[in-house]
Amino acid sequence: MLDVIVIGAGPAGVFAALRAADLGAKTALITRDEFGGMAANDGPVPVRSLAHAARLIREARQLGMYGIAVNEPVLDYPRLLERVRTVVNDVRMHSALRAQIDSLQVAVHEHAGIASFVDSHTIETESGLRLQAKKIIICSGGVSRRLSVPGFELTATHSDAWSLASVPPSMLVIGGGATGAQVASIFNAFGAKVKLFEAGPRILATEDEDVSAVVADSFRAAGMLVRENFGKIESFEKTSSGVCMIFSKDGVLNSVEAALAVMAVGWAADTAGLHLSAAGVEVDKRGFVRVDGYLQSSAPHIFAAGDVTGRMMLVPQAIQDGFVAATNAVRGAKMIAGSPVNPIGSFTDPEYAHVGLTEKKARESHNVVTAVVRFDSATRTIIDGRTTGFCKLIVDDATFKILGCHVVGERAVDITQVAAIAIAAGMRVDDLAQVPLSFPTYTAILGRAAASAARQLNLKVTWQANHVEDAA
Ligand SMILES: Cc1cc2nc3c(=O)[nH]c(=O)nc-3n(C[C@H](O)[C@H](O)[C@H](O)COP(=O)(O)OP(=O)(O)OC[C@H]3O[C@@H](n4cnc5c(N)ncnc54)[C@H](O)[C@@H]3O)c2cc1C
Repeated sequence: MLDVIVIGAGPAGVFAALRAADLGAKTALITRDEFGGMAANDGPVPVRSLAHAARLIREARQLGMYGIAVNEPVLDYPRLLERVRTVVNDVRMHSALRAQIDSLQVAVHEHAGIASFVDSHTIETESGLRLQAKKIIICSGGVSRRLSVPGFELTATHSDAWSLASVPPSMLVIGGGATGAQVASIFNAFGAKVKLFEAGPRILATEDEDVSAVVADSFRAAGMLVRENFGKIESFEKTSSGVCMIFSKDGVLNSVEAALAVMAVGWAADTAGLHLSAAGVEVDKRGFVRVDGYLQSSAPHIFAAGDVTGRMMLVPQAIQDGFVAATNAVRGAKMIAGSPVNPIGSFTDPEYAHVGLTEKKARESHNVVTAVVRFDSATRTIIDGRTTGFCKLIVDDATFKILGCHVVGERAVDITQVAAIAIAAGMRVDDLAQVPLSFPTYTAILGRAAASAARQLNLKVTWQANHVEDAA
């Protein structure tokens, strides 16, 4: 009998297997398909590659502004997909983790098909593998949520975009969360006529309201139809040129058509084939594996990590979860999961990112000051012709600690990382304001916001580093 079996070789599973083996446990890692999971094969890596292509098209269109004459860029989609496949393979092959995992003698079973519980200590796979272990860690990730509306099978998911032979002339994206916004942004840049439909009052509902508004306005300015509060989906029907969505609002039926309809209405746990009941593992009412703070499931020797738990559905958090679950599985449940600081960002055009509380949430429990620096007032953004966006800092007026940072615009994700480090280090806003960040850079905008907040709080900023922007 093995010490540990890990199911799923995405970021959570790979780190769980690494950690378990590092602690001396005899470990096997079983995965249905490729090593790397959705993260490497069907999520961030391919999406970021497509987003990079979209960015290159945008950059090419800017060349004229700097006196460089070229023709209008033309996208060869099949060639782009070849590039995406190369990137995905390279990431997988050059992943240092694979070498580490092999050196720790983890038995890796790739392309094993669906693994399922036979009993609480036995796992069987579609490929015929049968293994037993004292501890099991479920890291099977998630899948696009399906809706039970008539004609749902006529819709696609983000994964289907990778298999298209060409860019569709028009695309309906349903769901204005992180995935829907990325798909919409990328395909809009590729020349599809994109209609983004969101049932809630605004796209990017978990972002600061001002950030959602800038992204929605920018999407519209780029030619996209953004429809918020659209109502309820009734059905999908096939048309001669694609698909039609019938929806209703306030009792009135309406319809919208496109060559392709992409659903991005949420994420569900990938547990369908696991046969969890054979092991006494319970799921919560959303269908995610129910875990406690130690990532221990209702069966005490079975742990779960990553998207399958329905907590923060991001790669860094999946990695942390994998580490914690394996530590607890091997050493006993003592380590608590979860980080107090979780930066989140997305590579739409414009980018957006945040760390900490939104302004609305912060005001519910703190007295705050906010400092906003608009991108059209910063030197680097003006140099680069990227003046859409802002950086907002939210600061507690009693402790002077940073409660939240929200950025929309060029390099928003990178700017937010610096705010995350400041928050994690417990820096006061005046301490951040005194770091002489390089000029002219995007991150210096954060320094300027910190200096502005410190001024509002009457804090002495002895070195006026971040006023250099004002002086320039
Ligand atoms: C379009 C898109 C873009 C994203 N962009 C970002 C981003 O920019 N940054 C970021 O941090 N996160 C991003 N994410 C989220 C990120 O990909 C996930 O949070 C992360 O992959 C979760 O890791 P995981 O290990 O829990 O699961 P996964 O990466 O999903 O891996 C799970 C693995 O388990 C396997 N498996 C499932 N069931 C079984 C079974 N029964 N038997 C055997 N194997 C099984 C699956 O095949 C898969 O290989 C994005 C997601 C999507 C969809």
